[in-house]
Amino acid sequence: MTETITKTTTETKAEVTFASLGFANSILHALNAAGFTKPTPIQEGAIPAGLAGRDVLGIAQTGTGKTAAFALPILQQMAANKLHNRRFATRALILAPTRELAAQIEADFKKFGAGLGLNTVLIVGGVGRTGQVNRMSRGADIVVGTPGRICDLMNTRNLLIDQCQFFVLDEADRMLDLGFMPDIRKVVAALPARRQSAMFSATMPTEISGLAEGLLRDPVRVAIASVSSTPSKIAQHVHFVDAGGKRSLLASLLKDPSFTRAIVFTRTKRGADKVALQLSQEKISAAPMHGNLGQNARQRALDAFKSGEVRVLVATDLAARGIDVTGVSHVVNYELPNEPESYVHRIGRTARNGAEGIAVAFCDATELAYLNQIEKLTGIKMHVAGGTRPAHAQGQKPARHPDLVVRKVKPRRPQYAGAARSRAA
Ligand code: ADP
Ligand code: MG
Repeated sequence: MTETITKTTTETKAEVTFASLGFANSILHALNAAGFTKPTPIQEGAIPAGLAGRDVLGIAQTGTGKTAAFALPILQQMAANKLHNRRFATRALILAPTRELAAQIEADFKKFGAGLGLNTVLIVGGVGRTGQVNRMSRGADIVVGTPGRICDLMNTRNLLIDQCQFFVLDEADRMLDLGFMPDIRKVVAALPARRQSAMFSATMPTEISGLAEGLLRDPVRVAIASVSSTPSKIAQHVHFVDAGGKRSLLASLLKDPSFTRAIVFTRTKRGADKVALQLSQEKISAAPMHGNLGQNARQRALDAFKSGEVRVLVATDLAARGIDVTGVSHVVNYELPNEPESYVHRIGRTARNGAEGIAVAFCDATELAYLNQIEKLTGIKMHVAGGTRPAHAQGQKPARHPDLVVRKVKPRRPQYAGAARSRAA
């Protein structure tokens, strides 16, 4: 029987603290320094289970604190059980769908585990593998990576996971979208049977529940408010505008100084480059961020955005997941996504850590059906801030957008996912 813990984000139990969960002092100290005063609902549900050695299935949208929910129990158990590492072997493996997300998770492990003397290695694509191989040669306590490069190092036996005690699959639904399932199956097949596993996903399509069944043993299921419930602290506006009018609308909106730090989402990488260039031409500091850029360029763009040097980040959905920047005042959907869940993830980049945020959508005639899908999923009708809502848009089939490239990567068999890897890992 699977035990289910269901929580909503509004539910609070004042008596649960990180100290009462029994963490080591150095971890409590790091949490305190990071400003984590009390666990979020998913942490409250997942941490006791993780500490007790149970497998966890966590269902929660982004921004709910999943990283600490899986990282803290692993760190605590490692703190209590120091081992000498085998060359190229790791004791914990965390898989994430994008490089940024993996880097963010690795940084969190380092932050919370600062006093524990653990060896953490980041293994992602887009950068040379030699440094990663060198780091693995000393053996690792924790490896965080993207599926493609992880498989790559496993193939050359520069990463050994046969004695891995902890395995985490983060953002499983995103992995599925990106075509990583064959890589993931390969990783799971190489793990020892005796291990503790956790899987996190914002949604639970059939493929993901199937994967969970194969991956997790008698899991504690922790579900918090579904992906369709957008954070209420985000005001959602829509402008009905011709495709040709989007450029000048964006420029005029960004004249408003209340747009202190904005992320503009486009549907394609090419679109992101184009919009960033156009903004630069309007003397608005902007940088593109998408999967075609090298890892260093992506990190530079993100750092410049975090520091405030760049006011507008123009991103695709792929890049969106790893972005955790506080103080994003506005999210602009320059083009609406064809998957309504992506909209929820996009606007979740603002209003983080309890702040307020504004989401602005640009909707042209080809996107009305997307807008309908989004409003159906969120249950919230967007406030019309410009143009007029067409009367007969209901039930219209999604039109094929001229810019729309083929986005779904079909898992390839029997040899695995070269294409998906070069796209995202
Ligand atoms: P998710 O993986 O669910 O998207 P993250 O783990 O990235 O969420 O956390 C989202 C943000 O919330 C991060 O900035 C993180 O530092 C912060 N956060 C997480 N847990 C807590 C907590 N208990 N107290 C305060 N801030 C937290
Ligand atoms: Mg996360």
